Amino acid sequence: MCWLCDLKTPSTTSTAPSEHRWNARRGFLLAAGTTAAGTALAQVDVGSASSMRNLVPAETLENSARQQYAQVIADARSKNVLAPEGHPQLQRLHEIAKRLIPFTTQWNPRAKEWKWQVNLIGSKQLNAWCMPGGKIAFYTGILDQLQLTDDEAAMIMGHEMAHALREHARERMAKSKVTGMGLSIASQLLGLGQLGDVAANMGTQLLTLKYSRDDETEADLVGLEIAVRAGYKPEASVALWKKMQAASGSNNNASFLSTHPSGANRIQELEANLPKVKHLYEQATQR
Ligand SMILES: [Zn+2]
Repeated sequence: MCWLCDLKTPSTTSTAPSEHRWNARRGFLLAAGTTAAGTALAQVDVGSASSMRNLVPAETLENSARQQYAQVIADARSKNVLAPEGHPQLQRLHEIAKRLIPFTTQWNPRAKEWKWQVNLIGSKQLNAWCMPGGKIAFYTGILDQLQLTDDEAAMIMGHEMAHALREHARERMAKSKVTGMGLSIASQLLGLGQLGDVAANMGTQLLTLKYSRDDETEADLVGLEIAVRAGYKPEASVALWKKMQAASGSNNNASFLSTHPSGANRIQELEANLPKVKHLYEQATQR
């Protein structure tokens, strides 16, 4: 898991009365990637997605995520902590999403059908996430406390989108189910239909799901490439994680630090991949 993807349960998304409050307004849908970026070859090397994920039907999980997302947003709205449509920070996030979305479909053809959605929730948490099917939330804490530039915010959004595109939640659910039952028993007892029910019932777990370190690396690199293709500076990925590292240094929550992969490794991995995507940035900025 990572600092960004340390998803909180719905109860912890509530905020103190002193925190941001907005009039309840509907978040809006962003059009799916109708201007698909074609079949550009991936520059970062993350291999193919785990076949294990096929044990959980994507459609079922996406439906489940849609319901869970609607609930989180309704909850935020009822607490007056959902950013209204005209909020400058939300507009900024929507602009970033519009630029990134066309470059998502090469990582997952299903994304053509996704109804991407981006909402901003008033909370001091340093958090952002994207549920299966393209349902994104940012918390004001991560934008405000880290003073994110557009390039850095784009790196976070790319990272979160990458988790959804690479179907890490689907993979985690399939693996936890199969591991829990033992592979041989599971293969005998579990049909796709049953796992489909599992996926439907696991919607609430989307908010507490922990990703593996490999998932995080993959999301870093895929997110980097998506953001750079959209014209955001590659170096912002490194700058972002340096800010994260600095923020963690001033955080006294020991378990927070002990459960997260080393920021230094993460930064090294990103730095090693910058040369692979540099030309994409030059292409994007020349368009
Ligand atoms: Zn992550």
